[in-house]
Amino acid sequence: MASELLWPTRCVSCDMPGELLCEDCRANMPWISQRWACPVCGAPFGWLTCTACDGSWEPRATVCGLGFGQIPSQMVACLKDGHELRLAPVNAAVMACALEEAAAWPARDGKPRFDAESTDALCFVPATSEAVVRRGFDHMGLVAEELSAIINVPLADVLVRGEAQDQRDLSKQERAKNLAGTVGVIDDVSGLNLLLVDDVVTTGASMREATRALLARGAASVTCCGLTRVW
Ligand SMILES: [Zn+2]
Ligand SMILES: [Zn+2]
Repeated sequence: MASELLWPTRCVSCDMPGELLCEDCRANMPWISQRWACPVCGAPFGWLTCTACDGSWEPRATVCGLGFGQIPSQMVACLKDGHELRLAPVNAAVMACALEEAAAWPARDGKPRFDAESTDALCFVPATSEAVVRRGFDHMGLVAEELSAIINVPLADVLVRGEAQDQRDLSKQERAKNLAGTVGVIDDVSGLNLLLVDDVVTTGASMREATRALLARGAASVTCCGLTRVW
């Protein structure tokens, strides 16, 4: 393909020409062992006692695929800010792997952390409308579409987000305040068991806010899945 000659595909993490994620980087992905992860917030090694959450998070379980580091942060940034849309199915595949592994381990309610059969729909934490206009797409919408096809759970594009300041420079308290009331649910979700996805889970503020909005509109349960967990 002419475009491959002009702009050869390079590894998003180490810049090696050839593939979007080179063999080395694929072999060095910082997978979170679901067995030892916190069932509530998805933090690695938090299964017994978790210092990243107080066990009071609203989602019935949180499953995250990767710990944070160079590779996951590039997988997120190159899709979102680098417009490398071919990463959407790659990121979705990572999340599908994590969910499959997590299905073998119990959530705090004793049921599997994930079960596709009993999940009615998949929704995603939306970008702000300003960010969607700037980028021309909602990156998590693209990932959610791919994930929906892999795990065979229908997509429900039910969340909208108002304007909130960029989260990156804010403290934990400021993040929660910044987001309070900014997520809206635009369709009926009553009685549904939902899977909610996002890219980076840091304090969990965005995901918890979206979960609260879904539960307030009558969702039966919300299970969360993040691509990567910063803790
Ligand atoms: Zn690489
Ligand atoms: Zn935790």
